[in-house]
Amino acid sequence: MPTLTPEAFSALYGRCADASPALASLDLPDGAMDRLRTVCDLLIDNAKRFNLTAIREPEEIVRKHVADSLIPLALLRDAGIDLAGPILDVGTGAGFPLLPWACALPEASLTGLDATAKKISHIRACIDAAGLSNAAAVQGRAEEAAREDFRERFSLVTARAVAALPVLCELCAPLTTVGGAFAALKSRAEEEIRDARPAAEALGLDEPEVLSYELPGGDARTLVIYRKTRPTPAKYPRRYAEIAKQPIA
Ligand code: SAH
Repeated sequence: MPTLTPEAFSALYGRCADASPALASLDLPDGAMDRLRTVCDLLIDNAKRFNLTAIREPEEIVRKHVADSLIPLALLRDAGIDLAGPILDVGTGAGFPLLPWACALPEASLTGLDATAKKISHIRACIDAAGLSNAAAVQGRAEEAAREDFRERFSLVTARAVAALPVLCELCAPLTTVGGAFAALKSRAEEEIRDARPAAEALGLDEPEVLSYELPGGDARTLVIYRKTRPTPAKYPRRYAEIAKQPIA
């Protein structure tokens, strides 16, 4: 028996859509609601056992994980960002925004990358349970993947709650194709955006487009969209210890 019935999920999602015009504007494909519900259900189930996320109540999961992933997706679409993929979610954790995006974008190809094996196995279980044949999960570190076959391979790279922007730009820009975009999902970000300016410039990213919005319930959010217009110099990314100790200034 699912913890979260289709009726309960639909009511929680509907409440979020009523509070967010952006979410309401997302035209979800057939089957997406049930896939989203399956992902939430498995998260509720596995979170208890594997300590996957601090957010465990169904209402909070739908608002702070599903809506918090899908609202920025609608804003990216409105900003004219190419959502056909390949898309990479860096530090995807329990699969956010990767899994909601995979439910909403059946034609795209999406990959989630995370350093932690336990999180990758949870995501693979979600991919199987929800039948998300457009998504894959890979265990690894962003700065290492960017030195290997993931370099400049993704037309859209995203990350939520992984690191401050000066660090995140160095992890994500090298993975993004020239002509593609890196979109960071943040709460408040003015200071980080300012601090990340020299890094963005050095890594081949343009001055970002910054979109402020609210989650249902009122939490402030910021979507920071960097377009990549020049190749990232080969010396980036550096080793993680260096990136964290001394962000590009
Ligand atoms: N994006 C998810 C998870 C955030 S927690 C969400 O918003 O819910 C941050 C995750 O990033 C952790 O799972 C951690 O393992 C991963 N992570 C941090 N630095 C990383 C790196 N350099 N490469 C890959 N994964 C990283």
